[in-house]
Amino acid sequence: MNYEIKKQILDKITAYHRIFLFRHVRNDGDCVGATKGMKRMLQLSFPEKEIYLIDTDTAAYLEFMGPEDEPVADELYGGALAIVLDTASEARISNKNYKLCAEVIKIDHHIPLEHYGCINWVEEERSSACEMVVDFYQTFPEILKLDSEAATYLYTGMVTDSGRFKYSGVSGDTLRCAGTLLDFGVDTDTLFARLYLEAYGYLKFKAHIYQRMQLTENGVAYIYIDRAMQEEFNLTLEQASACVGCLDSIREVISWMVFIENGDEQGSIRVRLRSRFVHINSIAEKYHGGGHACASGATVYSMEEVNALLADTDALVKEYKQTHEGWL
Ligand code: AMP
Repeated sequence: MNYEIKKQILDKITAYHRIFLFRHVRNDGDCVGATKGMKRMLQLSFPEKEIYLIDTDTAAYLEFMGPEDEPVADELYGGALAIVLDTASEARISNKNYKLCAEVIKIDHHIPLEHYGCINWVEEERSSACEMVVDFYQTFPEILKLDSEAATYLYTGMVTDSGRFKYSGVSGDTLRCAGTLLDFGVDTDTLFARLYLEAYGYLKFKAHIYQRMQLTENGVAYIYIDRAMQEEFNLTLEQASACVGCLDSIREVISWMVFIENGDEQGSIRVRLRSRFVHINSIAEKYHGGGHACASGATVYSMEEVNALLADTDALVKEYKQTHEGWL
């Protein structure tokens, strides 16, 4: 699929000597894995090229994947190719120096909010951007090279963005791509231990979440995590945000979300929205956000907005339940 676009991207990669890789703010396993995996693949395939990945802001739970390159002078970006992975809109690109590059390529699997590249390769049905990088490799196996290190980065993104191959975006192609990576040698025992073992104190926090979670009238599950709760359990914002997964297995709940007070001057509140069957990205887009059909992010600034977002989601869920059968 999309052979022509992939060929155009390969031609650009071939044409440029210096290439910078970019990803999104508030990074996750997929954007970190896709950029690190792409960097390693390009280094192995084109050892004469200069490939940079500069981002000062890796999430703590992904630090095991190793640091990125040190910042370089702005002049180096001029005349270079930018490849932005896993990022739907320009505003979410973390290293703003992509603007200094000669040309920008977008490779993404989110619902497209805008096209910002000279080449935009977007496949919404892909379960991760890492899957697209593997697909790119599979399209040109005589030119591109992977090894166990690259495979581990890419596998990390595939595992995390697909909920360990659980979400509906997982297809036969997803597993074929994962199989390709496993053939290069991925230490899955160590990887899963690094990603998913939880600290004793964090499990206590989860117990608290289960005590405090609430339901709207039509069954939207949610929890509001204020600064006090974050301090009580000594949590970073990232750790507090991770608890959205705690609400994902409640029978009859087809949408769930967490609100996390960011503690900034604007009083912003991060919202992580999730669903099964019903699509909630339109709600996220209404509240300064976006994302996927069943996994989106948004930002609100007051309790009025929190309640309005909950009411909108509740109405959506009500309508879905009234008009669909067999959703459990
Ligand atoms: P999160 O809950 O932050 O992990 O977000 C879920 C998905 O929505 C991820 O794929 C994010 O990249 C995407 N997303 C989160 N916030 C935004 C936003 N403000 N605009 C567009 N996409 C977003």
